[in-house]
Amino acid sequence: MTASALPVLMYHHVTEKPGLVTVHPRTFREQMAHLAGAGWKTAGCRDLEAFLAGAELPDKSVLLTFDDGYLDNYVYAHPVLLEFGLHAAIFLVTGWIGDGPARRHAGMGGDVPECPDHREAMAAIGAGRADRVMLRWSEVEAMRSAGSFEFHSHTHGHRRWDRDFADSAARRRALAEDLGRSRAALAARLASSAHLCWPYGYREAGYAEVAREAGFRFLYTVERGANTRDTPPEAIRRVVVKDRAGAWFASRLTLYGHERLARLYLALRGRR
Ligand SMILES: [Zn+2]
Repeated sequence: MTASALPVLMYHHVTEKPGLVTVHPRTFREQMAHLAGAGWKTAGCRDLEAFLAGAELPDKSVLLTFDDGYLDNYVYAHPVLLEFGLHAAIFLVTGWIGDGPARRHAGMGGDVPECPDHREAMAAIGAGRADRVMLRWSEVEAMRSAGSFEFHSHTHGHRRWDRDFADSAARRRALAEDLGRSRAALAARLASSAHLCWPYGYREAGYAEVAREAGFRFLYTVERGANTRDTPPEAIRRVVVKDRAGAWFASRLTLYGHERLARLYLALRGRR
């Protein structure tokens, strides 16, 4: 059996502090246990590339993605992925990733760093204290070599260029410069990547061209839906994962693993 569609799931935080775009570590473990127990295989971004180019993917393939690159991904998600032999991708805001020794994760036992909710994380970044809530390159490297995560771009500065630049030519120049910096940072630290996820899911006419010129060929959105071989590489769909396991999680995988089911479901919900 081969897959007709690849669900791409979207996470942000995995932490014990409840809040926006957050899954509790206990829920995350239940979700991963479900994947492993029900025979799901976690694809990498390269598998998605091959699938969109016409290659076959095993049935029950799923791509797990995390946005931004929070410290909690290392503290809580990394040990669970290792436990179940699963794999995921993180889209890093490369300008928010710092240096310094790797901290402790939950799989090591003992005390782990405090991982705040989304609001507090944003406040820390705004106050110039990103290191308290974001990954360090040493942790990125530890996860990459352990095989739990691969890393791609979520831009360098995570901005809304449309709000910061009224003039569209200036906006595109600023975006091009940012994407160039992000791609260079990834290439210098890890390996060059052609995969980019738009901050806030925001994109407009002309953005894809700027991304293409910067070397990004696979662009991830926050539009819900299944990805089939016909999905344009510059409009990859993703599904938000809520802090729910059990039947809810299982049904998302089934829905977005079948193109027709997903389309029917979204039509019934009044969304295309
Ligand atoms: Zn983001």
